[in-house]
Amino acid sequence: METSRIPGFYNMTVEERRQLLTTMDMFTDDDTEYLFSKEPLPTDTADNMIENVIGTFPLPLGLGLNFQINGKDYCIPMAIEEPSVVASASHIAKIVRNAGGFTTETTGRVMTGQIQVVGCSDFYAVKEAVLQEKDTLIDAANNAYPSLVNRGGGAEDLEVRILNEASDAKYGQMLIIHLYVDTCDAMGANIINTMAESLAPVIEELTGGKVYLRILSNYPDRCLARARCVIPPDLLQTGDFSGEQVRDGVIHAYEFAASDPYRAVTHNKGIMNGIDPVVIATGNDWRAVEAGAHAHAAREGMYTSMTTWSRDEQGNLIGELELPMSVGTVGGSINVHPIAKLAHKMLNVNSAQELGQVIVAVGLAQNLGALKALATDGIQKGHMALHSRSVAIAAGATGEMIDMISQRLIEEKEIRVGKAKELVEEYKK
Ligand code: NDP
Repeated sequence: METSRIPGFYNMTVEERRQLLTTMDMFTDDDTEYLFSKEPLPTDTADNMIENVIGTFPLPLGLGLNFQINGKDYCIPMAIEEPSVVASASHIAKIVRNAGGFTTETTGRVMTGQIQVVGCSDFYAVKEAVLQEKDTLIDAANNAYPSLVNRGGGAEDLEVRILNEASDAKYGQMLIIHLYVDTCDAMGANIINTMAESLAPVIEELTGGKVYLRILSNYPDRCLARARCVIPPDLLQTGDFSGEQVRDGVIHAYEFAASDPYRAVTHNKGIMNGIDPVVIATGNDWRAVEAGAHAHAAREGMYTSMTTWSRDEQGNLIGELELPMSVGTVGGSINVHPIAKLAHKMLNVNSAQELGQVIVAVGLAQNLGALKALATDGIQKGHMALHSRSVAIAAGATGEMIDMISQRLIEEKEIRVGKAKELVEEYKK
């Protein structure tokens, strides 16, 4: 993908967009067969993915455009049912592109496994005993998954915590062993669970306790991805609002979310509006990413904003987002779901770390899109205009009626299903 800047994409028909992407060498004929077939996820494949299958559940797949991240262009597949998300991400990506693009980084690719030990006679003594055997335990974990080590990954560290140390603690004391594993390009849940389970007998012998849970933590705080953007105020100017007014409005909106969990949860939902569609389109586990993101937002004891927005001495708006990113480019359903495979091809990322960085950049863009709208015209103007087509369809409009009714709803500033039903009846007369 040479460029993610495709002017006029929004105004094309679906067929024109597909043809254009084919001429841009984004697809091959085999790819298009999957994407355009009536059954992009064959029922047979679905039946092998989960239990009690009766069909599949399609979502719209759109492309987030204009993204430039660390100097590389990305067309970003986004699977989502909510209108205005893809448009808003692409709009902000264009602004950020004109400001030099997003910069991103990761802290590494290390996922966390947890092993719970109860019933030890002296938790402090066994903690020391486990730490003494740290290297042996790491070797044992790696022996349970040699192919990962051959790829350059594997277990690399181990920590021990004692929970409920206080004698008046409501719950019993326990030893929690954290196993840190470089899972390379896999999300790594099954890899880590296999390793943690393999260590259980050795740990029981070492501690004299009983091992209960042996499972991945969905808060992988050694697998963080970060995105940053620096935007001169003149790029933020919109309608009657100066760039400085937009910038200050965004910062005030952030300060509200940073101070109030009731606002933070909606602010963060807006960030996940960008993140989940990419996680879903790429066949990743969005429940894992959601759970980790919200845990990270509460890491200092109060649930707060996932992003930060500030201004520098030159008056530029600075946005930053850091989140755990337990996503992969292999494993799980990624190599099974035909559209997920195609999404990876369209994204053209070379590693799980790169995918994580793209995803946080989309989250940061989505947050700015929402805050910019909230700080200026309000969210409804743009959102409802895009929502009007869904309202028209919900009211029974079909074919050319959809555009006509959606336009009337916007003109009459009444984007409601009741009003749309009246217009459908009027149209049919
Ligand atoms: P897999 O079990 O599919 O393991 C990934 C496999 O990919 C590895 O076994 C490896 O096979 C292969 N592989 C090929 N190339 C690479 C590479 N470059 N880097 C790493 N591995 C590579 O998936 P995961 O362990 O990632 O688990 C993800 C799945 O687990 C998701 O579907 C998730 O929903 C689910 N899950 C989630 C849980 C949670 O979030 N709490 C709990 C349990 C499951 P080999 O080495 O054998 O060649």
